[in-house]
Amino acid sequence: MTEMPNKQYSLLLVDHSAEDLNLLASALQGYHLLTAKTGLQALEIANRLQPDLILLGICIPGLDGFEICKRLKEDSKTQHIPVIFVTSLTQEKDETQGFAVGAVDYITKPIRPGILQARVAAQLQFKTNRDQLALTAYTDVLTGIPNRRHFENVMQNEWNRALRHNNPLSLIIADVDYFKQFNDTYGHAAGDDCLRAIANNLNHSLRRSSDMVARLGGEEFVCLLPEVNQAQSLKLAERILYNIRNMRLAHNGSSVAKHVTLSLGLATLDLSKHNTWQDLLHQADQALYKAKDEGRNCLVA
Ligand code: GH3
Ligand code: MG
Ligand code: MG
Repeated sequence: MTEMPNKQYSLLLVDHSAEDLNLLASALQGYHLLTAKTGLQALEIANRLQPDLILLGICIPGLDGFEICKRLKEDSKTQHIPVIFVTSLTQEKDETQGFAVGAVDYITKPIRPGILQARVAAQLQFKTNRDQLALTAYTDVLTGIPNRRHFENVMQNEWNRALRHNNPLSLIIADVDYFKQFNDTYGHAAGDDCLRAIANNLNHSLRRSSDMVARLGGEEFVCLLPEVNQAQSLKLAERILYNIRNMRLAHNGSSVAKHVTLSLGLATLDLSKHNTWQDLLHQADQALYKAKDEGRNCLVA
């Protein structure tokens, strides 16, 4: 017998026939089920509700299953959702095409509930493992916030989006002042605690859900701020400096204050200066060097 998973997974069932939807639904009780009877409905629900798995018929008027699957795989918001075809088309060429458009499995009708359950459970297990791996690969071990690799991926997407919609986009790079001295004074373990506290504090300073803070490496962090213009990023940078100073983490080795401080470099997208997101990051980095030069515990835009 198939074991029911602990987490409640959501499945999107897509079929033209209400009768077939009911058959699928009764075989898959225990999951959170969503249904769609047309391709457009399926695409909309997949985008909005992000199901864990999609069971897709093929003979659907309008967009057929192959076309629906193709579109799901072309959209960055849905391409990670595994698709299983469930269909009465039994020819080899159909099954081959099913895999060609990106499905992970192909099940032919009539539905055998035990087999369907087992194959659904297997795909959900694969997906859970994949998600877990991705989470590990994209998270900084010390602080639990996104790492550089994650930042670079999101940055590329946000860069593209900013260009497409002509939106502002800002970056703030933050570097801890005299952090080598901090380690020398309090020890490496206290240094690690300090970095965790800073990561937490930076996260709290960000307000919008689209803002993101990542650890670039060492004692350097970056805030990625979509749809934030220069004036807004200046305000945010001031808040960041204030909030970090306000933690009042003792730092006797610092030459600029008695507690932990940051220096910040800001840059806002300007198409007359930046050809790639790396140019924008480089400019923020240069501003940071200037902030260090100007005495630290300050920001430079
Ligand atoms: P500045 O004000 O110019 O930024 O000086 P700084 O001492 O902060 O800069 P420097 O680049 O000389 O030293 C960075 C220090 O950060 C050295 C390194 O040991 C420490 N560091 C980097 N990563 C970690 C970490 O994961 N944990 C701890 N505890 N320390 C780290
Ligand atoms: Mg540094
Ligand atoms: Mg430093």
